[in-house]
This record gives sequence, structure tokens and C-alpha cells, in this order.
Amino acid sequence: MAVLKLRVVPDPILRARAKKISRIDASVQRLADDMIDTMHQEGGVGLAAPQVGVLLRLIVIELPEEDEEARVYINPEVVEAQGERRVEEGCLSVPGYRGYVLRSESVRMKALDRHGKPVKVKADGLLAQALEHEIDHLNGILFIDHIKAHEDLWKLDQEEKEPTPYERLHQTLHIHNQPPTQPQQVGTEASVV
Ligand SMILES: [Zn+2]
Repeated sequence: MAVLKLRVVPDPILRARAKKISRIDASVQRLADDMIDTMHQEGGVGLAAPQVGVLLRLIVIELPEEDEEARVYINPEVVEAQGERRVEEGCLSVPGYRGYVLRSESVRMKALDRHGKPVKVKADGLLAQALEHEIDHLNGILFIDHIKAHEDLWKLDQEEKEPTPYERLHQTLHIHNQPPTQPQQVGTEASVV
């Protein structure tokens, strides 16, 4: 198992469409394990294969409130989406930014698990958000594409990462980049997918 190099914008691989996996072999298993390691290392809730430079339809998700091992979904497809909610979101491939985007309230998804067994998942909340976000990655779509208004995207507050001396001075002076409005649902660092 290994931590892979994370691709960040403007890497063109993030804009490419990933290919369906036709055979789940040892290399796919290893990729899934390495993606889980990378997700843990980077502190994300989910990761899609293009984010580590592999154009295959494979995503991994691990919700903070779940004790079980990370979810691995191969060739995932949203088959039904219902409702709409405005959520705060970030992405490991768009470091330093957050935004408000519209996501479905609930989704039904079908995929294969890591053993190739078909699975159906009904999700709401953070899991639905993560599924939509990661499946977007497989189609070359980033969360910033869903931003409707300029003020819905902002740079991370300095408190959320290790501040530089310059930033520490700004914090002392109470200069922050705050989101313009309060979200209907406040995300946490957990919403970086
Ligand atoms: Zn992402």
C-alpha cells in the first residue's frame, strides 16, 4: 500500500473522462488500497481515481462517523437523485478553496464492490454529497463547476491550516476571509471530498 501523488488544478487529467473498469484484477485492488491510503493521508472523505492520475471509474469513500472500512465503488452510477440542498464543499484537488454548491438530498447509486459484486446504495446527507462529488470527478467535473455566484467560492480561513507568520499577524488583526452568508448546512473539514 502506498500514498499516491495527488493531482491538483489545473492538471488536465482532472478534466478527462475516466474509463469503465472491465476486469477487477490485482492492479485494481492495489489502486483501491493506495487510494484509501492517500485519502487517509490527505484527510479527505472520498477520492476518485483521476485525482491520483488514473483514468478509471473507481472511487473510495470513508465517512467520519462510520467505523467500517472504506467503501470502494467500481463503475458507480447515480440512477436516481431527489431533492436539492445547498452545502459547503471542498476538494483535495482544489486546495485552499471552499464553496457552496447544490447537491441532491438523496441519491440511489449502483456500482460494483471491490470483489466485483453488484451493489445498490441509497444515500442522503454527506454520503449522497460525497457520491455525487466523486462520480463528478469520473466525468471531469469539479465542484467549482457547480458554483453559481462569485461570492459562493472563497479562500479557506487561515485558522483551518497551519498559519504562516504573516497569516498569524492577520489573525491577530482579525482579518479573515469569511464566507459571505451562512450555509443552510454548515460543513466541516469532513466535507473536503
Ligand atoms: Zn474532489
